[in-house]
Amino acid sequence: MQPNRYANHNLPADFTRQHHALAGLDTREFLSFIFATHRPFGQVAAVTSFGAESAVLLRLIADVAPSAPIIFIDTGFHFDETLAYRDELVSHLGLQSVKTVGLDPLSEKRSDANGMLHLTDPDGCCQLRKVAVLDHALRGQDGWVSGQKRYQSHERSTIDRLEWDSARGKWKFNPLADWNTSDLMTYQTQHQMPPHPLAAAGYLSVGCSPCTTPVTDGEDVRAGRWRHHEKRECGLHRPADLIVATG
Ligand code: SF4
Repeated sequence: MQPNRYANHNLPADFTRQHHALAGLDTREFLSFIFATHRPFGQVAAVTSFGAESAVLLRLIADVAPSAPIIFIDTGFHFDETLAYRDELVSHLGLQSVKTVGLDPLSEKRSDANGMLHLTDPDGCCQLRKVAVLDHALRGQDGWVSGQKRYQSHERSTIDRLEWDSARGKWKFNPLADWNTSDLMTYQTQHQMPPHPLAAAGYLSVGCSPCTTPVTDGEDVRAGRWRHHEKRECGLHRPADLIVATG
């Protein structure tokens, strides 16, 4: 294992052992291991946006652990197409435990009653409608699975398949970290996965409707997110200096 850049972040005692256990496994084996019935990482949930690239991870999970808990954060600003795609994929894949979570009405009334916070403070809006909601939804979970890939952006270029989310004190898994666009498209075609309804219109990464635009040729997959702001991430995935990763 490479020297750990973030050695002060209280890694679990079995981090190195688990890292070795997962090394060399292909993506399906990796997911089978973390969702194995003896629960080597405790309770683990997957988090998905039902976005343009979500189908591959969900198909793999449906294959190895169809009853695994899956969390979808409904910010209240999703495209109608995304909500329809969620329902289509849940049915298509036979996912048994998809839970939609969102901001409680009282907090919404207190913090963003007119639903305009995204215009003046997108970081605050994401914190309210995504990060805090996920933090709450992950209570009782020991780890979570994300669909992040290294190729998606500079910010994601160093993620590892196994990480320790020290801010939340949970395992974090990125099973598709080393997949690229070609891998995803091949898999989707081979398994005849329905595309996100907006993908054909250039929405290669689909988030909330006020903060998502299509991308043009040559742009990063995520270039259409918060296009007119410096913002690149919603905050669900903590910055690298808060997530422990090994080389
Ligand atoms: S993506 Fe935009 S609308 Fe959605 S939570 Fe973040 S700032 Fe708010």
